[in-house]
Amino acid sequence: MLKLDSFTETLDRHSIPVKKDIKLAAHTTIGIGGKADLFLEVFSPSDLELAVKLATAHSIPYLVMGRGSNLIIADNGFEGLIILNKTDHWQILQFQSPAVKKEKVTSRFINLDQPVVTAESSYSDMDAEDIRVRVESGARMENLIKTMLKAGITGLQWFAGIPATVGGAVYMNLHGGNHFFSQIVEQVCLIDGRATKVVNNHYFQFEYDWSILHQTAEIVLWVDLNLKKGDVQKATALARDWARQKAHQPRHSAGCIFRNLTADEQKQHNLPTPSVGYLVDKVLKLKGKRCGDAIISMKHAGFIENLGKATAAEVVELISMIQKIAKEQLGLELKTEVQLIGKF
Ligand SMILES: Cc1cc2nc3c(=O)[nH]c(=O)nc-3n(C[C@H](O)[C@H](O)[C@H](O)COP(=O)(O)OP(=O)(O)OC[C@H]3O[C@@H](n4cnc5c(N)ncnc54)[C@H](O)[C@@H]3O)c2cc1C
Repeated sequence: MLKLDSFTETLDRHSIPVKKDIKLAAHTTIGIGGKADLFLEVFSPSDLELAVKLATAHSIPYLVMGRGSNLIIADNGFEGLIILNKTDHWQILQFQSPAVKKEKVTSRFINLDQPVVTAESSYSDMDAEDIRVRVESGARMENLIKTMLKAGITGLQWFAGIPATVGGAVYMNLHGGNHFFSQIVEQVCLIDGRATKVVNNHYFQFEYDWSILHQTAEIVLWVDLNLKKGDVQKATALARDWARQKAHQPRHSAGCIFRNLTADEQKQHNLPTPSVGYLVDKVLKLKGKRCGDAIISMKHAGFIENLGKATAAEVVELISMIQKIAKEQLGLELKTEVQLIGKF
């Protein structure tokens, strides 16, 4: 108790109020999640750093949340501290160090669930002049894309329509079509609970849906992005196109539930696509199956949608059902892309 008092008092002194028993459903895109013991919001990297350091020093388990768009939080909530990241400043950097050569993310997992960009809006800014922009990790992708385009900066258009923050995008190596966030990350400031450090792209060992942060649990404070002085009109058209097509996906969801099949799995089962959405819909015929208010979405069978009052337990029951049937019928072990948080 004393420990907790000193934790909340220190944060209070820095004008960071700590709230208790806050329901997390409102902070996830799927609208599911019980209460967090402790909850706070941060609006600057220094406050994010302070909250992480203090939680570590007080041995309080914590989770940094962005849009909560990849999370299924248990109905009985999270035992510890939720830090909601609302840091969102950005600046163009004057000095530009030479670009770090990026590893190519393996394309065997390319997500065919992604919308197809129409011919008139396909546009590449690869050859345009580089511009380096530093962005705080809580910046929301949709706002950032608009702000950048207004400032004459392109390079984020591929990620339009995806509910993500920059920190979550690094953690998951966000992908829009064949474009990965790892392709534009130059350097990143991280905190491991005690100290900060600045690392470059190679540190993350980016892969499809993966970065080293899954192992290290370090927190992203800010990111230097290598963007472009491209054609703003064309990039805007492309962003609109992506966003329009992504709008058909179920918003009250946590994105694609499962990772795509590997090339071997796809070949073995003679499937036209590695998309688990296709598998669940056309092969397993599970589209529209419900458990309470959780449904395998009629819009896209790779997503589980909350029709209103779904619980995490219902979502997990549907996930287990899909995994069991895929295993029994095809011998496939489907791996979740969404993160389950708390006790199930
Ligand atoms: C409708 C819909 C469409 C989607 N479409 C796509 C898509 O096209 N492509 C795609 O890749 N994904 C997609 N997703 C999934 C999701 O948007 C991504 O996984 C995204 O990267 C999650 O970002 P977030 O900020 O919401 O992270 P959260 O869901 O809040 O958190 C996810 C993980 O990231 C960690 N994290 C968050 N911020 C930080 C930080 N600052 N430092 C360290 N770790 C951090 C969290 O602790 C957690 O472990 C979609 C989701 C939805 C709901």
